Amino acid sequence: MTTKRNYYEILQVSKSASADEIKKAYRKLAVQYHPDRNPGDKVAEEKFKEAAEAYEVLSDPAKRQRFDQFGHAGVSGNGFGGAGFGNVDDVFEHFGSIFEDLFGMGGGRKRGGGNRARKGGDLRYDLKVSFKESVLGTEKKIQIPRKTSCTSCEGSGAAKGTKPVTCSTCRGQGQVAVQQGFFTYASTCPDCNGSGKSISTPCGDCKGTGFQTKSSNINVKIPAGIDTGMRLRVSGEGEGGINGGTPGDLYVFIEVEASPQFKREDFDLVYSLKIGVAQAILGTDVSIDCFEDEPRQVEIPAGIQPGQRLVIQGAGIPKLEKYGRGKGDLIIEVNVEIPMKVNKEAEEHLRAFAQKVGQNVKNNNGFFDKIFG
Ligand SMILES: [Zn+2]
Ligand SMILES: [Zn+2]
Repeated sequence: MTTKRNYYEILQVSKSASADEIKKAYRKLAVQYHPDRNPGDKVAEEKFKEAAEAYEVLSDPAKRQRFDQFGHAGVSGNGFGGAGFGNVDDVFEHFGSIFEDLFGMGGGRKRGGGNRARKGGDLRYDLKVSFKESVLGTEKKIQIPRKTSCTSCEGSGAAKGTKPVTCSTCRGQGQVAVQQGFFTYASTCPDCNGSGKSISTPCGDCKGTGFQTKSSNINVKIPAGIDTGMRLRVSGEGEGGINGGTPGDLYVFIEVEASPQFKREDFDLVYSLKIGVAQAILGTDVSIDCFEDEPRQVEIPAGIQPGQRLVIQGAGIPKLEKYGRGKGDLIIEVNVEIPMKVNKEAEEHLRAFAQKVGQNVKNNNGFFDKIFG
């Protein structure tokens, strides 16, 4: 706040300047630093916003009085304005009427059309990857249909040998004034759709749109650790820009296919392990392929309980850069399988076991064996 320049200083007027002098001073600066005259110039953009902010306060008698009395503190926040503008579009949005007043319709800015360079549209591509690919990362070649500038007419939309002419309806402004009751507002020109140009003989290849749809192959690097719902931005691979504007971006939305053995909890890899009753009681060794160079040998201790989880730290899913370093854990969730049927010999052993540990079990006829018989 303290580094803010005095509004009078910004507009280069005296403290006693009249409303008319302030308006003239602002007009001069707005023309000088207008974004259409200074494309890509960040300093000019700042000056343009600064002047707009100063004018917003000094052109309003109540705000000007508060500023004279309390300085910036008197006009910042609380809806008093003077809070500054985020970008030049905010300035145009906020000052639509002032700009029309100063520059005539359209605010002196060729909005939505004309020859103004515009960024191409962003594209979305939905991509499925296997569970394994999501853990290890991969590279995918994807084919995307993209709107590109028509090569036959170089994007003008006019047939070879002809040129687009200025739209007579809007005189090239791309906007027309629409009267509604007492109000006049600017609306996109219906004849040229805001381009400001009209084409008498449309290009046959793009039907006058200036665009063609072409499929192109793009390699997309999928980082290890990617998950469903994440999206990757491929800069500059969206639709082509208009009038020399930068191309849009391609957003690849990821869906990871389910795995029969694995599921994911954050960056932990959860493996569902099935073991037998005897293995649960006596303990065992298992080999688990958890997407490392070699399968992991894991010792299942004797007496493990159904549903119990064993954790092997750092053997899970690689963490994506913004979530930290290293890997999550490998979690082995133990499920004990109860056989539906066993052979005669195994059954005899089980009966002997039941007798040993004092559990009564059904006999072959559905009756209980006599315990301690
Ligand atoms: Zn064409
Ligand atoms: Zn028009």
